[in-house]
Amino acid sequence: MCGLGPGGCCAPAPANCRTNAAPRQSGYRHQRGDGEWKSENYPVRVEWTGCTFGGRRAWFLCPAQGCGRRVAILYSGGIFACRHCYKLAYACQRENADDRAMRRADNVRQQLGWGAGIANPKGGKPKGMHWATFARLSAKQDAFAWVATVGSARRLGLLNGRLARLIDDLPREH
Ligand SMILES: [Zn+2]
Repeated sequence: MCGLGPGGCCAPAPANCRTNAAPRQSGYRHQRGDGEWKSENYPVRVEWTGCTFGGRRAWFLCPAQGCGRRVAILYSGGIFACRHCYKLAYACQRENADDRAMRRADNVRQQLGWGAGIANPKGGKPKGMHWATFARLSAKQDAFAWVATVGSARRLGLLNGRLARLIDDLPREH
């Protein structure tokens, strides 16, 4: 998990949260990759559950928006979040230009009420939409779809080129 966030590092969440599901301000400082220190201050909730053999154990509730998973460890890389949220953030960062174009094309397709996916046929003009808007959105979809298609084709070509070189390098029988 290390190195996912800017200047990311793994650290258990602050151990001073002990109240039962009460929001605690967990203040901490975090050093970014560029050496600048940033102060963070937001509540991290803690929940207690009973153990099978008696006693109780504490869980952190992931403070990432819309998550709230009960986890034993929170990761720190600018914000505290559970590993699921970090994976998500990481996937977003890794999105390349083709993926981005594809996602943008899908956004426009959604506005037009067309099915997602640039390989799917284009639809008609939604009821109540001005023709000018429709023409603009339709052109936008085409542009994003084109970027995505050319981008992936180029990447595939690159892959094929690499494969061809590998095959060339294989020892030949004389
Ligand atoms: Zn989370």
